[in-house]
Amino acid sequence: MSDSRDLVIAGSGVAGLSAAVYAARADLAPLVLEGDEPGGQLTLTTDVENYLGFPDGIGGMELIQRGKEQAERFGATFEHGRIEAATLDSDPIELSLSSGETIRTRALLVATGASARWVGADNEAELMGYGLSTCATCDGAFHGGNDVLVVGGGDSAIEEALFLAKFADSVTVVHRRESLRASDIMARRARDHDAISFRWNTELEAIHGSQADGVTGATLVSHPDGHPTERAADGTVVDRETVDVQGVFYAIGHTPNTAFLTDTAVELDSEGYVVTETDAAGRITAETGVDGVFAAGDVADPTYRQAITAAGTGSMAALDAEAYIESRSTDQPSSAAGTPTTTTPSG
Ligand code: NAP
Repeated sequence: MSDSRDLVIAGSGVAGLSAAVYAARADLAPLVLEGDEPGGQLTLTTDVENYLGFPDGIGGMELIQRGKEQAERFGATFEHGRIEAATLDSDPIELSLSSGETIRTRALLVATGASARWVGADNEAELMGYGLSTCATCDGAFHGGNDVLVVGGGDSAIEEALFLAKFADSVTVVHRRESLRASDIMARRARDHDAISFRWNTELEAIHGSQADGVTGATLVSHPDGHPTERAADGTVVDRETVDVQGVFYAIGHTPNTAFLTDTAVELDSEGYVVTETDAAGRITAETGVDGVFAAGDVADPTYRQAITAAGTGSMAALDAEAYIESRSTDQPSSAAGTPTTTTPSG
């Protein structure tokens, strides 16, 4: 059997980095696969003001860079790569990367995160992090006195709108239909709030502004029967209006990055999030129910989705993985820590 690593961490956002620091300090020489979005969601935000220990805030990118340096200092290594398929019932676990490489590892820590869905409006890639955001908790406080839009109609959109209304002068919820998907109690709170209003049967077509000036406006399309973008594509006439706003927040749901786990024994919930187990006493763990596979961060958390909680569960998962590896170390000695174990297919 070819050499195997002790631990591969899939994902290099806050959860993966926190896990890497803990695992590296435990001499597991973890390999971190950085994924398609190295650094994860924090790299899409500007300043982070609610992460403990930074009273003046810290840039999302800087926080990630510091975490990476911290993990590397203790012996973690990083490699570009995305897991395409995983064989979890083999020992060691086998991971097939999109590059064609195969990596073998005794334990896998899944910290692949969840990606906020994007609307597809013009200019969104340029303005993400510059007035366009997918996280009101992260960026809402920068919008004191501003007029902002929230796109979506579920609980997330309403929660974002209520949070933003603490800072912004006005919050307009832009929803593509005439009724909300959000729970009644949340919807009522938003309707009763003086600063929050609704644009029904409306979608966001374009965002205006620049990285230097931030968001300065948005083009909205409306149709009395809803789903205006679809109807515009069919050639049906829609109303089009440009509004002055200084912030746009997307809240149309998240997609957990678990495609490579769908054909494995790892349990996923109805939305694709990894389900982690509780122990015999009912306490939370980072175990997935599949031997040697652990999960941390947003990939297993549709509820809190905060950088600080991702860091916390990352450390938990590393500790669980360490205990697992240690418990098996007499059964199956691993290769020397840090030995490269990547193989390429012969053809
Ligand atoms: P969601 O319930 O799936 O709602 C997504 C919303 O975005 C829907 O209203 C949908 O419109 C709209 N949407 C989707 N794609 C769109 C597009 N391309 N353009 C414009 N609009 C689009 O997602 P969520 O609000 O993130 O909630 C996810 C889960 O977490 C839910 O179960 C929710 O109850 C839960 N959650 C709970 C709380 C809480 O209890 N405090 C807070 C947040 C989330 P349509 O309605 O037309 O499909």
